[in-house]
Amino acid sequence: MSPVQSSLPGVPRNPVGGHVPVAGGLHSVGLSYARDLKAEAVQVFVANPRGWATPAGNPRQDEAFRAACAEESVPAYVHAPYLINFGSHTEATVERSVESLRHSLRRAREIGALGVVVHTGSATGGRPRETALRQVREYLLPLLDELTHDDDPFLLLESTAGQGSSLCSRTWDFGPYFEALDAHPMLGVCLDTCHVFAAGHDLTGPSGMHQTLDLLVGTVGAGRLKLIHANDSKDVVGAHKDRHENIGAGHIGEDPFRALMTHPATEGVPLIIETPGGKQGHAADVERLKKLRWTTP
Ligand SMILES: [Zn+2]
Repeated sequence: MSPVQSSLPGVPRNPVGGHVPVAGGLHSVGLSYARDLKAEAVQVFVANPRGWATPAGNPRQDEAFRAACAEESVPAYVHAPYLINFGSHTEATVERSVESLRHSLRRAREIGALGVVVHTGSATGGRPRETALRQVREYLLPLLDELTHDDDPFLLLESTAGQGSSLCSRTWDFGPYFEALDAHPMLGVCLDTCHVFAAGHDLTGPSGMHQTLDLLVGTVGAGRLKLIHANDSKDVVGAHKDRHENIGAGHIGEDPFRALMTHPATEGVPLIIETPGGKQGHAADVERLKKLRWTTP
């Protein structure tokens, strides 16, 4: 056992936590679920992830959530709804995407979240990628420019498993996406290990994970990786399938997660699990990742 050094005494190098359900109360339900997981980081939805509704928060729950996360040094993140697609050829979808993401960004600030994760979307309707990226610039860049408060969250781009005409699945796809957004200072990356594996980056082997992280840093630069979705994969590398598995039980296996927490680009970056198995499965995955954090291969 050889502990991985942390930059701050008492603060883990990589806080490990999970996506938690919040129906019934951000604080009363969400945070108590997080405590049951012994989570050191937390991710929530602030709207139905499969809808366009933009619900107002409950100010008392918001404040209790924000205060508890601050008190316990638990970094919080918001995952924006899945329907958002700034590359869509349907005007209504793009307009709803703007309203939905603006809502998630505002709610994130209200609950003290550090970042909002949004999927990078796809070029639908058979349109070229360049056209879709121009549209990403037209509609997404203004939302980034609205992030002027001291406590505004970062916008974290999450690449996909590479299904259909996805705009961003391989590490280098972040290049044109960042370029389209002028590499805005409020822009970051959320790397999902299952997605990037499914997209074709083999994370296994002695250096698979480090090579992939090197490629990412080579594309977006240092300091942009701000969150990791730590998920194993039910499918083989390059399968382009987004099916999460419990840590160590899929085709990625435990070793790449251990390696993940030794790469310089992940220093201080929280891990969030989005795995199956309900609360018991989630607690086991959080515990497994914490163990891997403290051992070197
Ligand atoms: Zn994810």
